[in-house]
Amino acid sequence: MQKSDGVMEKIVSLAKRRGFVYQGSEIYGGMAGMYDFGPYGVELLNNLKAAWWKEHVQIRDDFFGLDSAMFKDPRVWEASGHTSGFSDPLAECKKCNTRIRVDKELEKVGVKADEKMSEAELSKLFEEHKKNIPCPKCGSHDYTPVRAFNLLVKTNMGDFTGVNAEPVYLPGEACQGIYLNFKNVVDTTRAKVPFGIAQIGKAFRNEISPRNFLFRTREMEQADTQYFVKPNENKDAYERIKKDRFDWYVRLGIKPENLRWKQHDNLVFYAKDAWDIEYNFPTGFDELEGVHDRTDYDLTQHMKHSGTDLTYTDPYTAEKYIPWILETSVGMGRMFLAFFADAYTEDELGGEVRTVLKLSPKLAPIKAAVFPLLKNKPELVEKAREVYELFKKEVRTEWDDNGNIGKRYRRQDEIGTPFCITVDFDTLGETPEHKDTVTVRNRDTGEQERLSIADAIWKVRQAVS
Ligand code: ATP
Repeated sequence: MQKSDGVMEKIVSLAKRRGFVYQGSEIYGGMAGMYDFGPYGVELLNNLKAAWWKEHVQIRDDFFGLDSAMFKDPRVWEASGHTSGFSDPLAECKKCNTRIRVDKELEKVGVKADEKMSEAELSKLFEEHKKNIPCPKCGSHDYTPVRAFNLLVKTNMGDFTGVNAEPVYLPGEACQGIYLNFKNVVDTTRAKVPFGIAQIGKAFRNEISPRNFLFRTREMEQADTQYFVKPNENKDAYERIKKDRFDWYVRLGIKPENLRWKQHDNLVFYAKDAWDIEYNFPTGFDELEGVHDRTDYDLTQHMKHSGTDLTYTDPYTAEKYIPWILETSVGMGRMFLAFFADAYTEDELGGEVRTVLKLSPKLAPIKAAVFPLLKNKPELVEKAREVYELFKKEVRTEWDDNGNIGKRYRRQDEIGTPFCITVDFDTLGETPEHKDTVTVRNRDTGEQERLSIADAIWKVRQAVS
């Protein structure tokens, strides 16, 4: 199902115009699959990360945070299957980005590709037969050319002389750092299975065709949790984690009708189960977050490749085992796009059409904007400055004295500011019982209430925390 046409363009344009997201390296003509978060974008991104961290670390007794180094021993990517797995001949569906293993798909239609074939030869063969190979996801036959592709981004750390340089890789996924530190966390904290480790970390992929704005980028940040459970004690915890992740989006304001579950059809051999939370992006429903039931595969792989014993010993029963893992993984850019798209609203308020970002106050980049009613009255400006200074100490606040009040409201609506605070003559004591009160205007309803300065600050703090 497609949302109304043009929504993506409107979102991209608002994001650029108001300083949320810029094209990466724009002054050089732009770099595909790269985006920079601007002044409001970084606030929203940080608020999303903080909300995620609060959910998975702050309020949990059974979770531990982590921030692992991006560069890792290259053997890590062998253990994870990234170095070998992605040297396959791949073509990507131009419609839905699904990548297919060209040799495997050819095999299915009875065509044997010789292992020694060059990329060009294989491409030719694929061209001849692709009419019989529908994309497994969307059924299209429109593919990129075949490439022997490794999604890992290789770099040359330590290559000062060009001699003896060891290839190292940027992380293809952030979660590997968690597996590498499983033993450290057990040894240095009171972690007892079942427990989880949470991390937000950068990941890089040589995506064949980055597209749909923040949806598919070559540099991303992933928010991952890995929950370690006793073997065969995965089922209930998995269901609970699935429910928690879905509910989290709804609690933070995503419309439930824009979210749905999708179970993976083809499980990798070691997985017990795998589901995606899909969001109704402007381009239609697609994966937002993966929730995977992965058995002991990851720790076992690292045990084999590192030679380090990662067996867990139950402190009460002395039972020894390799824990099973339940994983959640979401790209922060995709999450940003989902919240941004969901909040994007065009409505009418007081007879005027407006664009408003109906973000949860917890996520809004700016929590309050403080205005003097009039710019050319020094006594109003002075008092409003005082109020602004008070607000600024408590929450992210913006000052605006440009143009008339209506224009200021529109500007704040567009960036999702939930409260606009106006200092007027009553604040100065023109009506004595209103001295030191301000008007607090609600973004969604346009309604205003008069509150003491202290109550106004309290109200905003309550709404955003
Ligand atoms: P997809 O099928 O869309 O390529 P994936 O199944 O490869 O995604 P995972 O490897 O499971 O994704 O990564 C976990 C999460 O990381 C995804 O659910 C998504 O939110 C995010 N993610 C993955 N690749 C990208 C990308 N290229 N750009 C932005 N986010 C991404």
